Amino acid sequence: MLNETKNKLKNMYNITDIVFDIYEKAIKDVESQFDVYDKIREFNQLKVLNAFQEERISDSHFTNSSGYGYGDIGRDALDRVYAKIFNCESALVRPHFVNGTHALGAALFGNLRPGDTLLSICGSPYDTLHSVIGIGDNKNIGSLREYNINYKQIDLTKEGKVNLEKVKEELEKDKTIKIIHIQRSTGYGWRRALLVSEIKDIISFIKHITNDVICFVDNCYGEFIDTMEPTDVGADLMAGSLIKNIGGGIAPTGGYIAGKEKYVTQSSYRLTIPGIGGECGSTFGVMRLLFQGLFFAPHVAIEAIKGAILCSRIMEIAGFEVLPNYKDKRSDIIQAIKFNDKEKLIKFCKGIQYGSPIDSFVECEPWDMPGYDDKVIMAAGAFIQGSSIELSADAPIRPPYIAYLQGGLTFDHAKIGILIALSNIFKNDSI
Ligand SMILES: *Cc1c(COP(=O)(O)O)cnc(C)c1O
Repeated sequence: MLNETKNKLKNMYNITDIVFDIYEKAIKDVESQFDVYDKIREFNQLKVLNAFQEERISDSHFTNSSGYGYGDIGRDALDRVYAKIFNCESALVRPHFVNGTHALGAALFGNLRPGDTLLSICGSPYDTLHSVIGIGDNKNIGSLREYNINYKQIDLTKEGKVNLEKVKEELEKDKTIKIIHIQRSTGYGWRRALLVSEIKDIISFIKHITNDVICFVDNCYGEFIDTMEPTDVGADLMAGSLIKNIGGGIAPTGGYIAGKEKYVTQSSYRLTIPGIGGECGSTFGVMRLLFQGLFFAPHVAIEAIKGAILCSRIMEIAGFEVLPNYKDKRSDIIQAIKFNDKEKLIKFCKGIQYGSPIDSFVECEPWDMPGYDDKVIMAAGAFIQGSSIELSADAPIRPPYIAYLQGGLTFDHAKIGILIALSNIFKNDSI
């Protein structure tokens, strides 16, 4: 870091020498890790480029459609590009998905029928899915449960692995199981993200027992962190958000579903309506942004990973428990930091907000977010509202007070944000 940079950081944000010392040590420690991810980025950039070329993407795919949106060539071509990248039969990529939960929910509602059972094998699914499944506090909202679709869950083992023995037992015992839900990312838990290689082993174990279940992966935060995706290793269906990795920070909104054609088609009837599916939906001129974001995504995802790795090492040296460790192999962009202290957690998140390009002047506060059971604090000074491929930190306000940091469109920004956040924790003033 140049002295000019340090001086500016000191003057603007009161960053202390202790914080710079921690940073200098951390950055040396993490360099060899960065090399690993540079190579993954290179591979994925090539994969994306290839898909664009094979589908002969051109300017004409960026045009606008209106009304019903029949035959929107950009929309249909983007579906094919995604399917190629994910090495699967079909994809449904739409700005009409309001978020990742919506895409995941459409996949579940589209493929489950009354009497079927959804089995989660990574413990409790991501918070916002509780309402979808019908295990949250909300009643009479049209959840899966209200349509007589059952839910079962198998918790991860103490080591954070899928409990395969229990999965086998359950599959042999309960023939109503239709979808097996696998969550790749940590979510708001204290667990490692599942590696794609682990997902491969889990799916082949399941397929060995029965071929009659849909292996469904919540791929949020996972895209382009590895050279392979869940659909490369046997996942029948997966879904994710465009304001995370795969939108590259450019996609203004949306989600995707990808996998076997029959399951994607069923999902499309819940994106729109039975009989219409993915054939309607005008795209309001956003197609260029979805294509361009996808093109940037391999790069941006690795910028974010580098921020997460540096954060992990910095916070570890500063004395906090972190997950994953800076040396651990990663499968999502999330860095969890355990504060065991409500005030420090809030100060950290506020620090990330102070370091944002947008809304740096606001104080973020814990609030009752729709879809979440606890109050949540979200530091997100983002160009796109709530975009968590942009540098952001969020935390449900509950012990042991874990913050989840993710994103960073550029590594330099992530670095600066993390230094401000750490420095903010060391400040004594009240929050
Ligand atoms: C982000 C995320 C979701 C979906 O969240 P949205 O805010 O609705 O996009 C689902 N599962 C996991 C693991 C996530 O990280």
